[in-house]
Amino acid sequence: MRRQLVAGNWKMNGTRASVAELIRSLREQALPASVEIVVLPGALHIGQVVESLSGTQLSVGAQDCASEAGFGALTGEESVEQLQDAGCEWVLVGHSERRLILGESDEVVRRKFAAAKACGLKPILCVGETLEQREAGQTLEVVGRQLESVVSALGISALADAVVAYEPVWAIGSGLTATPQQAQEVHAAIRAQLARESAEVAEGVRILYGGSVKAANAAELFGMADIDGGLIGGASLKADEFGAICRAA
Ligand code: PEP
Repeated sequence: MRRQLVAGNWKMNGTRASVAELIRSLREQALPASVEIVVLPGALHIGQVVESLSGTQLSVGAQDCASEAGFGALTGEESVEQLQDAGCEWVLVGHSERRLILGESDEVVRRKFAAAKACGLKPILCVGETLEQREAGQTLEVVGRQLESVVSALGISALADAVVAYEPVWAIGSGLTATPQQAQEVHAAIRAQLARESAEVAEGVRILYGGSVKAANAAELFGMADIDGGLIGGASLKADEFGAICRAA
């Protein structure tokens, strides 16, 4: 039985004051102990969030990491070691905003994934197709290629305790949500692709859905057989809404 996971991606939002307020409201939420809950603040707020969530069931992750491990001359980047030292347990890799706006290639995403795994940070690998690719019938091919880039280079065992987030680009921040059936089709294909290498790994991997998840549509999405929780953007900035999404998982 896979434990449901809900992660809130705060993106490039917040000030110290608004983050303190969000945490205060989150702490007032009744959150289900059965669900694993992660928040992903911007890098500047990681220390503040780690400190204020200490002793709660919420854990903290980063939205990105450097593709090089260790320390050294890479201006403006944070390595997985630094993120871990700051109290992160998780890190997103390959978010579509980084792939598409900042030009991150599959190879860079794979290196970030490998760096995270090597130091014990838990990566959440984001995959997903654009609207153009969906309309051209390329969804499974695109998502399959993004996944294969990690599996073929690092081996299926690298996915053993990892989390994959399927996030159709057209659904992110757009108010458009994939139907539960559309999402389930891709989640099942991801699991089937992993099962061709290892049935055991495929069965254990958690596959989150992301793309305009709200309290109103979460239960239906999370009720699908291969959807193991959600990666939540905009709605994670509202404690009540995020709390309701966690309770739907
Ligand atoms: C995201 O950016 O990961 C995301 C899912 O955003 P939203 O929920 O706002 O669509």
